Amino acid sequence: MAAAKTLPLRLPPLPSIKDVIRLYKLRALKELSQNFLMEPRLIDKIVRAAGNIEGNVVCEVGPGPGGITRSIIHQAPRKLILIEKDRRFLPSLELLADACKDKVDVDIITGDILKTDIAHFIPGDCKRDWHDAPPPVNLIGNLPFSVSTILIIRWLEMISKQEGPWAFGRTRMTLTFQKEVAERMVAPIMDKQRCRLSVMCQNWCNVNYKFDISGSAFLPKPEVDVGVVTLTPTKQPIIKLPFKLIEKIVRQIFNMRQKYSIRGAQTLFPAEVRNEMAIKMYKMADIDPMTRPFQIANTEFARICHAYSEIIKKYPEFEHYDYRAPKIKQPPSLPKSEAESSVN
Ligand code: SAM
Repeated sequence: MAAAKTLPLRLPPLPSIKDVIRLYKLRALKELSQNFLMEPRLIDKIVRAAGNIEGNVVCEVGPGPGGITRSIIHQAPRKLILIEKDRRFLPSLELLADACKDKVDVDIITGDILKTDIAHFIPGDCKRDWHDAPPPVNLIGNLPFSVSTILIIRWLEMISKQEGPWAFGRTRMTLTFQKEVAERMVAPIMDKQRCRLSVMCQNWCNVNYKFDISGSAFLPKPEVDVGVVTLTPTKQPIIKLPFKLIEKIVRQIFNMRQKYSIRGAQTLFPAEVRNEMAIKMYKMADIDPMTRPFQIANTEFARICHAYSEIIKKYPEFEHYDYRAPKIKQPPSLPKSEAESSVN
């Protein structure tokens, strides 16, 4: 029989997560996408997906009652930053912080992850050069479904600018998403799941789908299964242009995902020049206009984005054209004689 792996850090006996939930009356709130993981072996599997975190600074998003938090503490990180919006979890998180005091420095922040500056809590000595190995910093979270896609898009933009936790180098992430979202993040070309999220995630990160978690492992059980994904920023993005510009082009092209990709690309330009400009852009990029969006590789998106960038240098008036902006309707004009009398 294989010897049981000894954990780097032992905690004094603690009530089980089930007991913590009962003890503190932590009824899950649907509006905060609260689904708690109860099974310690599954929780350990998520934390192991992050690799060796011993001695690292770990930021956990949405610790809730603290199931994943415990598993992280067992791996003896140097510091743990907990960001939780729901104040009801404070006592159970404080209990954990107390159990590991003198061994792990725990910061508990009650706030919204979308408004919290994580970098503020990361010690300066964690900083590494972008081209070096990733820094000893990990972001881990069983994310609330309600913010996961918004958060990853926001984090990708920060990665593109090497800001926030990515001012410290290529900080790695181990995160959960709805299974369908996780599949989209890793979808290669020709895959029916390929979408804007696939292109964006894969432009700045190596994305790995680690494993599924059945919805039945959560309390309460969500309607969907969950996928665990790791993301490691790459040294160089494939499309080396500003985030917003890439996002705009990829969004417009995937907006008409079943059609030839040039149809979506046309919507980057005002109606009167739409056909002419999209053909020009595809010619410059050497892309067949009849290619469908899901057939376009990131290297080809790079050519389309560079061509667009050249076009807006020449025609700056197209740069801020927004197909989605509400069209200003002209009031119906009156017949001339009536118009004259209404002015008088
Ligand atoms: N980590 C726990 C687990 O795995 O059992 C709980 C995961 S639960 C899916 C998501 C957690 O994120 C909840 O504790 C919820 O209160 C918290 N949360 C929801 N929205 C948040 C936000 N905007 N910022 C920070 N935490 C949030």
